[in-house]
Amino acid sequence: DLKGKSAIITGSNSGIGLGVATELARAGADVVINSFTDRPEDHALAAQIAADHGVAARYIPADMSKAEDCRALVEKAGGCDILVNNAGIQFVAPVEEFPIDKWNQILAINLSSAFHTTAAALPGMRAKGWGRIVNIASAHGLTASPFKAAYVAAKHGVVGLSKTVALETAGQGITCNAVCPGYVLTPLVEAQIPDQMKVHNMDRDTVIREVMLQRQPSRQFATTEQIGGTVVYLCSPHADQVTGTTISVDGGWTAL
Ligand code: NAD
Repeated sequence: DLKGKSAIITGSNSGIGLGVATELARAGADVVINSFTDRPEDHALAAQIAADHGVAARYIPADMSKAEDCRALVEKAGGCDILVNNAGIQFVAPVEEFPIDKWNQILAINLSSAFHTTAAALPGMRAKGWGRIVNIASAHGLTASPFKAAYVAAKHGVVGLSKTVALETAGQGITCNAVCPGYVLTPLVEAQIPDQMKVHNMDRDTVIREVMLQRQPSRQFATTEQIGGTVVYLCSPHADQVTGTTISVDGGWTAL
């Protein structure tokens, strides 16, 4: 039961972040939803979560590619008990052709944002003697694929950052872990399907089964609810001694 706890979930107006925010709200936590946009529908999303689950929910715009925005998000939220670093983007290119601006942007959003929000949130957590930091890494935080240099480097970095923060907070009522999803069907993955269909000259179902889920032995996508449930577990008393580690939700990917 997370009643009375406040959570910030970065990059949560769609996909996994929205799933995590929804499951935290279902468990009773007040939530701050975030992305870089500031549209009526972003604020409506927060209102909907509040109405559905009887919690306080706010939308706070902040661009996770910018250090000052990351820190301002935590300030504007008034700190948080639970911080979920989820914002992330993907770009695919061979390393020698990888655009420098894409490399910098992926490192900023997928890795550095977690450093900035963690630094901003920790003093408040230490003052309360309780805190949960959950970083949404990836199976690509533990393994690699060709053409995803920035993403794989950033996600391995997130795993390392999680371990370091866990050591710095051990025994203080604060835990820090990384969740490593395999393929989850979200807009980020959906956007890769047409490209993959073209590259492999396959129809949608075949490319999903034979190419995209080829490394996921279950041949099933994980769901955003399952990622959210994993985060809720990490925030529960059962996980008080779970820190500095990774939890894979990947249908067996990293067992191969
Ligand atoms: P998504 O595109 O649906 O969601 C990404 C979220 O990040 C969106 O809410 C988007 O608005 C937000 N975002 C992007 N740039 C931002 C910025 N500059 N500032 C603030 N917010 C920003 O994708 P998703 O699949 O839900 O991905 C969420 C996280 O899960 C990412 O870190 C991704 O790497 C990770 N992940 C996804 C999968 C998968 O299969 N979908 C697998 C492993 C890890």
